Amino acid sequence: MSASPAPKPSFKELEDVARKMLIALGEDPEREGLEGTPRRVARALLDLTEGYDADIQALVRGALYAHQGEDPVTVRDIPFYSLCEHHLLPMFGRCHIGYVPSGRVIGLSKLPRVVDVFAHRLQLQERMTREIAEAIEDLTSAKGVAVVMEARHLCVEMRGVEKAASETLTTCVLGAYRTDPQLRAEFMGFIGRR
Ligand code: ZN
Repeated sequence: MSASPAPKPSFKELEDVARKMLIALGEDPEREGLEGTPRRVARALLDLTEGYDADIQALVRGALYAHQGEDPVTVRDIPFYSLCEHHLLPMFGRCHIGYVPSGRVIGLSKLPRVVDVFAHRLQLQERMTREIAEAIEDLTSAKGVAVVMEARHLCVEMRGVEKAASETLTTCVLGAYRTDPQLRAEFMGFIGRR
């Protein structure tokens, strides 16, 4: 993210809510250190949820290339940061994507952008995994798409629900990855699973 975007209409509202939250927590929003906090919270929340406004078609326009091969493409370890919709606390980890092209491929630099569109919303890991898989299927008309997401959830770890840091793994397999166990196994091998 380069320059800060112009404040959106909801910016002021978010800033007010953040100030009220500080008061509800027994804090003094005017004290040194908290002075700019409502503004920073509002800015951060808008940045972290900018995926709602994204035009995913525009994002990949000009980055879909004709390609005759049908060998699967696998991209692993795409980092992502999101907010859980239950606590508005971070979940973050790595996303692995595989697809079997059908006439065209998507520019490799675009896959992390597609992940970001869905990660920059209030999310459930399970739903985000499916949304990413379906978006790639839509964009590329791939014969099959596989998405695996590994994430840590701070709402679990910080609140001590579980003692040790644990990772949640979600998968969504569509088309050829669903019907072809060998293709699926190969993908899991590429991403270091199994
Ligand atoms: Zn949560």
